Amino acid sequence: MARIVMKFGGTSVANLERIRHVAGLVAAEVADGHQVAVVVSAMSGETNKLVGFVDELDADSANGGAIEDEYDAIVATGEQVTSGLLAIALRRRGVKARSWLGWQIPLKTDMAHSVARIEDITPDNLDASMTDGNVAVVAGFQGISEDGRISTLGRGGSDTSAVALAVALSADRCDIYTDVDGIYTTDPRIAEQAKRLDRISFEEMLELASLGAKVLQTRSVELAMNNNLPIRVLTSMAEDGVANPGTLVCHEDDTMDERVVSGVAYSRDEAQITLLRLADKPGTVAKICGVMSDANIIVDMIVQGRSRAENAANLTFTVGKRDLPKALEALESAKGKVGFEGIKSDSNVTKVSIVGIGMRSHTGVAQTMFEALAERNINVEVIATSEIKISVLIDSEYTELAVRALHNAFELQNA
Ligand code: ASP
Ligand code: MG
Repeated sequence: MARIVMKFGGTSVANLERIRHVAGLVAAEVADGHQVAVVVSAMSGETNKLVGFVDELDADSANGGAIEDEYDAIVATGEQVTSGLLAIALRRRGVKARSWLGWQIPLKTDMAHSVARIEDITPDNLDASMTDGNVAVVAGFQGISEDGRISTLGRGGSDTSAVALAVALSADRCDIYTDVDGIYTTDPRIAEQAKRLDRISFEEMLELASLGAKVLQTRSVELAMNNNLPIRVLTSMAEDGVANPGTLVCHEDDTMDERVVSGVAYSRDEAQITLLRLADKPGTVAKICGVMSDANIIVDMIVQGRSRAENAANLTFTVGKRDLPKALEALESAKGKVGFEGIKSDSNVTKVSIVGIGMRSHTGVAQTMFEALAERNINVEVIATSEIKISVLIDSEYTELAVRALHNAFELQNA
């Protein structure tokens, strides 16, 4: 007998028919003699709808003040519905099951409403119920904050609920069911030749997730890596018996770094800011980063270049698209303090990245990348690298072209 955590995303529980299908997948594991905890997302589209309600009311008045605590109370309801529905569907198949909300477990989080972090899970009650033969159907995405209020874990957070629960329950497996049948070398909607990977390392997955591949929430990969919990990503869409084994996300092994590059990711959620004619002296960049962090804005890629004016530099950096207005406002008001002459910005940019642990031991990767882009006349605005990735910022118009060019250049169709 094994203990299994199965997680189902929004499209997997999109309607009652899908929920019945999921109940069948869960029932099959139970019939094999396993103890099962299931983590569910809201029905697809539901969370966006709830967020829409909040945004609409929020726009009503100029009276400021935080509302994230109530945002959480509202958006967490989507998962409450699916956990109850799946528990009923299981009972109607003759499988013992009950729903669990975050506070009932309890899954405790910090106070950062709408982007809370899990602090502690006490699985004793859940454990006892599972040992009694009940399937635990857990509402993902939600927890209870230190002051006893409902909290949520950030968009895509039920992946993190599943991994955290698997760790707390010392599960033997954590299976994440979604609408794609695994992790692909790139987005198959852009490059038809994209291939499903059998295995990928935690580190590569972490980079791909944070660089824009949306299959897993970044935090869930971090958590799995830190606890050495392999995750299997697979589809819930296949009819019985024909599902493939998906992709295993696990610690790297010897076979993995034979592949120089494992994936090409892209993110359109970028905006570029250039500060013109900055004082070229120690401390200027620190000041700018200070202005951004005071405004709670994450700065991603940074590049500094000479300005034509003497003793001056231009600084270009990127922030999330949503943060652009806030960033420009903060910079304008700090103009005198920081010392620069002008600001330019562009939100029509995409970050395209290649990721692979094989880059550590292979040379010529950057050359291949930049040649492939140059051959298509794609201009690179900003570059950022780490040991296992190279990212470039380009005009959004060339996103598809760049992704396909890189997928080809690294022969990922043979991955
Ligand atoms: N329903 C939440 C969202 O849409 C959480 C999740 O699906 O993981 O972000
Ligand atoms: Mg998701």
